[in-house]
Amino acid sequence: MPDIRRTVSSTALVLNQTYEPLCVVSVRRAAILVLSGKAVCVADVPVPLVIRLSRYVRVPYRTHVGLSRRAIFARDGGRCAYCKAAAETIDHVLPRSRGGRHSWENVVAACARCNHAKGDRTPAELGWRLHVTPVAPKGLAWRVLGHRAPDPRWADWLDLPVAA
Ligand SMILES: [Zn+2]
Repeated sequence: MPDIRRTVSSTALVLNQTYEPLCVVSVRRAAILVLSGKAVCVADVPVPLVIRLSRYVRVPYRTHVGLSRRAIFARDGGRCAYCKAAAETIDHVLPRSRGGRHSWENVVAACARCNHAKGDRTPAELGWRLHVTPVAPKGLAWRVLGHRAPDPRWADWLDLPVAA
């Protein structure tokens, strides 16, 4: 049996009627949606974990994924873009003091050591290379991943591999 205390305190993934990941709600909210007939359980152990809406909800096409610290870490796999150590900070590749923008293309996850050593210089000036090419994330899974830590049990419904 799963540990019910842990499950009850968790959240549920909401899928649109077409099975696209839509958002994350509290288990309590998910239970209300299911009990009121607005959604059905897709995975429940033993409380709603993934639910699917009974009716299709039109979602405005979102061109930008919010540039949150969590989203940047999720995009870069929690690794420093310069040395692959565990990231703790956000670095502006072209420093802000030199006109670098706060945009997906100019921010990377970085360890504190690299961030400190880099200071107000560019990777080229230091002879450093980026292990990732920073770009804005795309895809439906980012509706969910952009603002919350995903439950590993949702992985089947999201396109991305989910870190434990
Ligand atoms: Zn580093």
